[in-house]
Amino acid sequence: MSQLEQFGSYTKEAASKARAEESTAGWMKLKQGTNIIRILPPVKGNPEPWITIYQHFIKIPGAKQVVFNCPRRMENKRCPACEKGDRLKATGNPADEKAARDFWASQRLIAFAIDRDEMDKGIQLFPFGATIKSRLRHFREKLGKDFTDLNDGYDIVIERMGQGLSTEYQTDLGEQCPIVGDMSKLEAWASELPDLNSFAKVLDYQTIVEKFASAGGVTAGSQQSLPSGSGGSGGSVQDDENEIDDGSDPY
Ligand SMILES: [Zn+2]
Repeated sequence: MSQLEQFGSYTKEAASKARAEESTAGWMKLKQGTNIIRILPPVKGNPEPWITIYQHFIKIPGAKQVVFNCPRRMENKRCPACEKGDRLKATGNPADEKAARDFWASQRLIAFAIDRDEMDKGIQLFPFGATIKSRLRHFREKLGKDFTDLNDGYDIVIERMGQGLSTEYQTDLGEQCPIVGDMSKLEAWASELPDLNSFAKVLDYQTIVEKFASAGGVTAGSQQSLPSGSGGSGGSVQDDENEIDDGSDPY
């Protein structure tokens, strides 16, 4: 057998897949008050204009919160955070049951969107939660408005009120207009997009446990355990729909 058989070929598809995964599209963060955005249509092959993931946001006292996709909810595999939540819930102690909530995964949606106030940023990644999602579905299903249509769609107006756990979002249809005046601009932006499905990656059990260890959340001798909940009411950001860890790798 020739030694040359070890070499494959570098395909055009591999190059564009890698380029898409390395894209630097930024994360949109809704500001306090009024945000006017435009959500792009679904990428072909996706039924809705967003992908759905389930994420854990786990606050470790004195450390950065640990964020990762839930292997149980997304791939029916073992998840150390869900298991910790199960154990707390099973004790029957009301305080543990309350602490268990910090270990549940939240549904998150990610769409491509443009911020009308920051058009120079081009197409951004827009993370949001179930409340905004149900309004968007309502616009499409009950009001019959395809707000994502590039020419005849609608801007979306999102009012953000409050911070952290008490953040509220009011979502309405805005002006009906083309997404941009100059479609060649959109063409250029669209050539730089990441693959949304790259955000749906799930880490294996041991890697998640190690993520906690490096965040300072696992003490020696308890390699399989996650930090216990604070028992208090703080710590969770699950109700803050648009909160995304601004760190280099939110997933
Ligand atoms: Zn989980």
